[in-house]
Amino acid sequence: MKTVVLATSNKGKIAEFNELLKDLGLEVKGLDQFPEIGEIPEPGETFLENAIIKAQTVANLTGLVAVADDSGLEVDALGGRPGVYSARYSGEDATPEKNNAKLLEELDGVAEEERTARFVCVMVAATPDNIRIQSRGEWEGRIAFELTGKQGFGYDPLFFDPELGCVAAEMTRETKNARSHRGKALRALMEQWADFQERISR
Ligand code: IMP
Repeated sequence: MKTVVLATSNKGKIAEFNELLKDLGLEVKGLDQFPEIGEIPEPGETFLENAIIKAQTVANLTGLVAVADDSGLEVDALGGRPGVYSARYSGEDATPEKNNAKLLEELDGVAEEERTARFVCVMVAATPDNIRIQSRGEWEGRIAFELTGKQGFGYDPLFFDPELGCVAAEMTRETKNARSHRGKALRALMEQWADFQERISR
């Protein structure tokens, strides 16, 4: 196994994976190199269901090992919403700006100590013959009262990390990777990689 397909066209995610996987002698390709695949639906009700669907679909269509992640924001005061619907929180024509505005509106009047939330990321690696490994990473924080910072994406301007005393959008990429749900899930997946590779080559 030399090539791994990452089930995303997101250049940032592809670069991040390349950095982590190059020590294992693996080359990472993004979905942008397989234009015939197009958008993969995410019909699942859990992060794990969606990650499995994405990884298995791409593995089956490319004949290569595929890695997919599914992630989102769980806000306790909203009963865990937006969760798997984080990207589409404000509707069909959702944008990060609209999502953040809706989140602030829904949390209007909610006190600081009740604004607890976490980013969750589930990652799955799959082979064309249905061998899979999975991992999960979480990042605990609080939803701020206003947008701050210019880095990152999505809900980063509102996601306050109490240990660092700033929001995700104020962190360098290195700092965010070291603390984030995605960084944790990726490192946990990498810990299983040698075993996975052995199972595949049997
Ligand atoms: P997906 O995993 O690409 O489907 O992302 C789901 C959605 O969750 C994104 O569109 C963002 O709205 C949100 N999200 C996931 N991870 C992050 C993050 O690290 N920062 C900010 N928003 C995130």
